[in-house]
Amino acid sequence: MIKTRSIIFLLILISFNITGQTNLEYYFGDNISFNSKVSKPSDILDFEIGEKHVSHDQLVKYMHIIAEQSDRVKIERYGWTYEHRPLMLLTISSPDNLTDIDKIREDHLKLSDPAYSGDINIANMPSVIWLGYSVHGNEPSGLNASLLVAYYLAAAESNELNSILNNTVILLDPSINPDGYSRFEQWVNQYMSDVSISDPNNVEHNEAWPRGRTNHYWFDLNRDWLPLQHPESQARIKQFHKWKPNILTDHHEMGSNSTFFFQPGIPSRTNPNTPTENFSLTNKIAAYHADALDKIGSLYFSKEQFDDFYYGKGSSYPDVNGSIGILFEQASSRGLSQQTVNGILDFPFTIRNQLTVSLSTIKSGYELKNELLKYQADFYRQASKLARNEPVKAYVLDGGDDLTKTNRFLDILLRHQINTYRLAEGLFYDDHNYSTTSSYIVPLEQEQFRLIKAIFEKSTSFTDSLFYDVSAWTFPLAFDIKHSAIEGKSFKNDMLGDKLIEIPELTGKVSAKSSYAYLMKLDDYNSYKALYMILKNNLKVKVALKAFSTGEGMEHNPGTILIPVRSQSKTEDEVYDILKKISTKSNIDFSNVSTGFNQAGIDLGSPNMVNLEKPKVMMLVGNGVSSYEAGEVWHLLDNRFGIPLSMVDIDRFNRINLSRYNTIIMVNGNYSRISGSSREKLEKWIKDGGNIIGTKGGSKWLIDQKLANIKLKKTSRDTASIKNYGDMYQHIGAQNIGGSIFEATLDLSHPLCFGYPDKYISLFKNNKLFFEKSNNPYNNPVLYSEDPLQSGYISKENYELVKNTSGLIVSSIGRGETICFSDNPNFRAFWYGTNRLFLNAIFLGDIISSSSTR
Ligand SMILES: [Zn+2]
Repeated sequence: MIKTRSIIFLLILISFNITGQTNLEYYFGDNISFNSKVSKPSDILDFEIGEKHVSHDQLVKYMHIIAEQSDRVKIERYGWTYEHRPLMLLTISSPDNLTDIDKIREDHLKLSDPAYSGDINIANMPSVIWLGYSVHGNEPSGLNASLLVAYYLAAAESNELNSILNNTVILLDPSINPDGYSRFEQWVNQYMSDVSISDPNNVEHNEAWPRGRTNHYWFDLNRDWLPLQHPESQARIKQFHKWKPNILTDHHEMGSNSTFFFQPGIPSRTNPNTPTENFSLTNKIAAYHADALDKIGSLYFSKEQFDDFYYGKGSSYPDVNGSIGILFEQASSRGLSQQTVNGILDFPFTIRNQLTVSLSTIKSGYELKNELLKYQADFYRQASKLARNEPVKAYVLDGGDDLTKTNRFLDILLRHQINTYRLAEGLFYDDHNYSTTSSYIVPLEQEQFRLIKAIFEKSTSFTDSLFYDVSAWTFPLAFDIKHSAIEGKSFKNDMLGDKLIEIPELTGKVSAKSSYAYLMKLDDYNSYKALYMILKNNLKVKVALKAFSTGEGMEHNPGTILIPVRSQSKTEDEVYDILKKISTKSNIDFSNVSTGFNQAGIDLGSPNMVNLEKPKVMMLVGNGVSSYEAGEVWHLLDNRFGIPLSMVDIDRFNRINLSRYNTIIMVNGNYSRISGSSREKLEKWIKDGGNIIGTKGGSKWLIDQKLANIKLKKTSRDTASIKNYGDMYQHIGAQNIGGSIFEATLDLSHPLCFGYPDKYISLFKNNKLFFEKSNNPYNNPVLYSEDPLQSGYISKENYELVKNTSGLIVSSIGRGETICFSDNPNFRAFWYGTNRLFLNAIFLGDIISSSSTR
């Protein structure tokens, strides 16, 4: 009996000891009183914050409970992730402000409108502060701190907090990337031990591929603020513009051996479209973080790392929208505690730092309120003056016949609140006829002046040669959309036609029922969606290798798809019904033809009409493979085109039969795990007619294994001269190609280039793989130009290497082929222009060798 009692006593002691380390006093100190009507996190979770990693569901539950209990908090679900987890935003302010929150929001928005902002008395306005946590799912301290931030704001009782809440509106996004976080949280919690294992090698601290940083399709959501290709970003940006906050925080983690970082970042690497006052305000706010972190004894640094050049990140998008974006980086404990060069790093310690800078941000937003509000109004007031001093007055774009792709581009402009207009009249500019049916115009003189420049500009000169991310992202080049910058007096206001309120509605139709054949053009992005649906319905399909005309101006380029009626296993009516359904789902037109005898070019029964097979696609994944680039392919095929993709780990690949696939994809990565016998298996599979597509590192492996006949241009090393050790990082970094844009020309007669409207295309390059031109003169479908740099940074040495190289080479092996891209044609899901090359490789790859013998 005595024994049992002492064991129980001991257990109580142990549990007190655990909670004793991480109770609320640890986070908040002992002189704050809290409203007892609001639940503490531990009341709901049954553990203290920091004792384990909270799950997304637990987080959602807690936030809803305190929103119910506190009259300072409102909660809304603003979107869903791919895996159908809710995205939440808490609006936190004084109860009085919350009863009038719509009016406060509307008044706040007027600050960004020069037509109203001059008459506003900012002294009576609250500032708006947005706190955003853990966009990278495996950087958990921010998200776990968000419960404490919310609890503090909902429950703490002090005159200072009352005054803060009277003068600020705090928007709290506790979990920006719930799908990625959930992968991570599942991992660390399943390997959590009773005793803390701080060994960095422990499985708890080392997630499996593809890890939790990214979203469902393995995209970095902290690069998607500008491209907006994912539901998380699209929903968030809507809230951003609904509020236009004055400060936005972005809470991350970095390597475990670091300390803590807050912005400003490296001054010389700020994007020139960001006003200089932004930097000085960021610096003023930084003093608040420094003060707060000094008080709890945490080490930190600023200005030496990270930059605000690429606007697709959470800490820089606000900077081009009249707001101040702030990046925080906390050394990561990953699991519950980890040994580092600075001693044992505990999870609660990392959470406390994130909590501390959240509260110092709020304090700065309160004390610098008038300065921030004035900065925001000035930012938008300056826009029209800056636009008047700018040589470029408007950008005009012609989407041509690719209506789906054009719509995706317009969608981005509308989501960023960029005023876009139809052309009032046809315009001949830069040797191009911009027609009123397919062209749009974006004038620079509008509130989003800076953002328009950031989206459309081509830059080739920079103050720094190092970039944390890409150095160029010019959207019309990525979309391969014909465009011109209209300068000076060439621009007239009456060029602006109707303002675009929403993207144009698209419809597809079958012109009429046919008993002979149907034709489909390949010039729309969604043609591939339609093509896959046709093949999935087991209809026989041919593709034209040569042009033809069916008369009455019906010109058909190579790549036109033919669906004959009689040779199908389905009736005339069934074929018609299937195509009608497909046209509705894909918005693609089908035209009927009643004769195979064409007015010009090849006839429909020509040997230059070749059969297409349904792609059965597999992609290698797992350790060594770039999860980003694999995810881009998965998202492209699955989400955009409804094409099933088997993803097979390299270890399993070593054991399986390949006969169920006709296409294999190898994206960037290290494939040394492929066994020798698997390499032989792969070669036999290609010889038997397989089609293998490599990009970057995938291509490199195929070349090294002699499965692709490509000569690489070698980079030369400068070993002769003596240099300062202190400059090493700068010199080596300047030889990286972080991501720049280059012009290339297409061979429009090559199946891999079918469907392109003209021979010029832009390629995105972020690696140093350079293909010598193929010796076979017919085998250079995509060639880098003589002087190809369009936008971005590249060193002189690398620039010499990239000129006149081949971007894409096909190697025939037996009855099959390898198709090697030197670059990634699917970068971040917004390179719609080069997506087509990749889709052609999938659908048309296996006809190249057969057609070259024709
Ligand atoms: Zn991060």
